[in-house]
Amino acid sequence: MSQFDQKRPAFRKLWAICAVVLISCATAKPPHESGDFKASNLVELQRLDPTIQLDIRYATSSNFMHRPLYPEARAFLQRPAAEALAKVNQELKPLGYKLLVFDGYRPWRITKQMWDSTPRANKKFVANPKTGSRHNRGCAVDLSLCELSSGKEVAMPGEYDEMSPRSYVAYTGGTPEQRAMRDLLRSKMEKHGFKVLAAEWWHFDYNDWKSYRIQDVPFDKL
Ligand SMILES: [Zn+2]
Repeated sequence: MSQFDQKRPAFRKLWAICAVVLISCATAKPPHESGDFKASNLVELQRLDPTIQLDIRYATSSNFMHRPLYPEARAFLQRPAAEALAKVNQELKPLGYKLLVFDGYRPWRITKQMWDSTPRANKKFVANPKTGSRHNRGCAVDLSLCELSSGKEVAMPGEYDEMSPRSYVAYTGGTPEQRAMRDLLRSKMEKHGFKVLAAEWWHFDYNDWKSYRIQDVPFDKL
């Protein structure tokens, strides 16, 4: 028996595992949802309000996955959520700030990639693809504030997508100025129909999120 023959069962096992992984990735589908839903009407944020600043981290390597997940740096929300966000942005201007958006609608397949790549200890910071994310419904937005004059991001108690207690809305560390910025963002968003996620100061769900289906449409097909 040659050395190759001796190794053949191990090779077969490896190929079988690879095949299962590839097939499961190729056939992965969003969860089936029954019931009545509103028709999707995803609107590009910058078409509605070009003064909303974008920093779409998932279109770059500057994110917790350390690689680009989106082919284009664009942000979409369902129309009522997008219009509410534009109102928040307008209200911030007299205070010297505007919105800085990191992410909006997220195709379901990206949520699945995030879940599969995140270690078990940090899974509380990512959505389970079995139930989907409110980002998949076009009703969640990740964002911060930036200075109106310079476009510079303001300092918050923690970084975007940081997987630590500094991300909690109730975190009492950081400077008083940082906490004030976090609380300003939250108060303006909640005034216009969004609710913050307790574990992520940057994540807000629009109050009507249950009315919209999980979607897996890529940006270039919207
Ligand atoms: Zn989010």
